[in-house]
Amino acid sequence: VITKNDVLKIVDKIVEVIKENKEYLTELDAAIGDADHGINLDRGFDAVKQKLTTLPETTDIGTILRTIGMTLVSTVGGASGPLYGTAFMRAGQVVQGKNELSEEDIVKIFEAALDGIKQRGKAEAGDKTMIDSIEPAYKALKESLENNIALPEALNRAANAAKEGMEYTKNISARKGRASYLGERSIGHLDPGATSAYLMIKTFCDVVN
Ligand code: ADP
Ligand code: MG
Ligand code: MG
Repeated sequence: VITKNDVLKIVDKIVEVIKENKEYLTELDAAIGDADHGINLDRGFDAVKQKLTTLPETTDIGTILRTIGMTLVSTVGGASGPLYGTAFMRAGQVVQGKNELSEEDIVKIFEAALDGIKQRGKAEAGDKTMIDSIEPAYKALKESLENNIALPEALNRAANAAKEGMEYTKNISARKGRASYLGERSIGHLDPGATSAYLMIKTFCDVVN
C-alpha cells in the first residue's frame, strides 16, 4: 500500500524534479511551442507546495489530489494547466476519503487521470502529447499488477513504458496543441508535455522504490 505520507513525499519530489527540469522543459517547448512549459509547471507546483502546507493534518489522499488539481488549473495556465489539473482532480475523486492506497486504487488513479486528460483535450495516443507517456504507463502498470508483479517492479515497468512513449513522440508529428501548427516540422523534437508526464511518473516510481 501507499500511505498518505508516501503521497506527500511523491508530491514534494515532483515539485523538486519539475524545478530541476524547468529550463529543459522550456527549451523543448521553445522548439515546437511557445517556450513556457517548464515555467508554467514550475509556477504551478510552487503554488501546490505552498497550498499543501495550509491543509489540515487530517486531510485524506483524495482531497490532497483534488487540491493539487485545482491549484494547477488556477496557476499553470496554457494547455497543460487544465489538463494536468483535470488529471489530479479526477484521480482524487476515485480515492476520496482514503488515507492509504491499494494497488487497485493506484490503477484507478492512473485510469481516471488518463480518461480526464483525454476527455478534456480530445487527444489520443499518437497525437504527440502527454498521453503518449501516460497511456503506455497506465497499461504497463495494470498488466503488471494483473500478473501479480509486486508494486515497485510494476511501477518500474510503468516508468519504462512512459519513457519509451516519450521518446516515440520525437518520431511523430503533432496533431494537438500549439505544436500541431508546425505539422510535420514538429518531427524530430520531443513533446514537452510527454516529457513532463514521464518525469512525474518516474518520480512516483523512484519514491516507491
Ligand atoms: P501551451 O501550449 O498552452 O503553452 P504548455 O506549453 O504548458 O501549454 O503545454 C504544452 C503541452 O501540453 C504539450 O507539449 C502537450 O503535451 C500538451 N497538450 C497540448 N494540447 C493537448 C491536448 N489537447 N491533449 C493532451 N495534451 C495536450
Ligand atoms: Mg507552451
Ligand atoms: Mg503557453
